[in-house]
Amino acid sequence: MAKRDYYDILGVNKGSSASEIKKAYRKKAVKFHPDKNPDDKKAEEKFKEAAEAYEVLSDGDKKARYDQYGHQAFDGGGFGGGGSMNMDDIFSQFGDIFGGGGGFGGFGSQRQRVAKGSNLRIRVKLTLEEIANGVEKKVKVKRKRQADGVSYKTCSTCNGTGQVTRITNTILGRMQTASPCTACGGSGQIIDKRPSNSDSQGFVIDEETVSIKIPAGVVDGMQLKVTGKGNASAGNGISGDLLVAISEESHPTLQREGDNLHYDLYVSLSQAILGSSIEIETVTGKVRLKIEAGVQSGKILRLRSKGIPNINGYSRGDLLVHINVWTPKTLSKEQKSFFEKMKNDEHFSPKPESSDKSFFEKVKDMFS
Ligand SMILES: [Zn+2]
Repeated sequence: MAKRDYYDILGVNKGSSASEIKKAYRKKAVKFHPDKNPDDKKAEEKFKEAAEAYEVLSDGDKKARYDQYGHQAFDGGGFGGGGSMNMDDIFSQFGDIFGGGGGFGGFGSQRQRVAKGSNLRIRVKLTLEEIANGVEKKVKVKRKRQADGVSYKTCSTCNGTGQVTRITNTILGRMQTASPCTACGGSGQIIDKRPSNSDSQGFVIDEETVSIKIPAGVVDGMQLKVTGKGNASAGNGISGDLLVAISEESHPTLQREGDNLHYDLYVSLSQAILGSSIEIETVTGKVRLKIEAGVQSGKILRLRSKGIPNINGYSRGDLLVHINVWTPKTLSKEQKSFFEKMKNDEHFSPKPESSDKSFFEKVKDMFS
């Protein structure tokens, strides 16, 4: 579906001023707000569409790029390439539009910014087999939780908003800035009573076993999020998240390249000459390979869909088996004389055919 023009979406034009654009967006946001249109997919789409348009048109730099290149200006980056803003992004933008800490007229109160505990980070090491098949990992994490018997009261410094606003006089006039309240750390609540075994914020540390479902196809360096398994927040805030960094262990025989796998298969001289059937280990179990008689060293056998599933779940990579003919370094006297006899045999001199393509041509074929 073609994307609609950002100006059309908000009902403004290129010459509209920043405040006109803001006003137009505010109108759309109120009209299509999910709280006003529960379970209305169409309204939600319109709401997101307007937010995306405003995100671009309210930013001088992005607006200039959009004016010059249209939607293409954002292809592949953030949004515009099909991915649009998520609801969290949109609501965090509201602070600037409606003022205050996200409070939004008479509705949307449940969207009010809530205090969130800090995130925890761990690293999980996975074998290639685990990555290929997906795995559930149980990890022990030390999480802060509110101690039993702790109670909180509203922070008097910020009146529970978690923010303090300061008015400063500058050469541009009076400026109002909001910053997190230092008395309560932005949670809007401070300790009322706490048991002696807790820290100054009323937390104790518990070790907890968290089960993490890791989908097939993850990549080294990727980060997964387990919502709510980080540290607790003070008062009635929500827990932070557990951020899981994926690290891939190297495999003894398989090399990963994106979703494809490579395997170096060594065959003996006689196996190469006579042909053979060889069993190899793959990430999904054993596979029997037929090696044709007269196979050349350097030949690549492609086993379709025996690689790593794509993380998006739409496809699966291949397993590329590279044939290497193993040549012994030393020979017995009898073996030596056996091969001496063939030295001048015209049948054994190389006569590459067009099917015995060079390595580079094979690689070219593989990716074309
Ligand atoms: Zn406070």
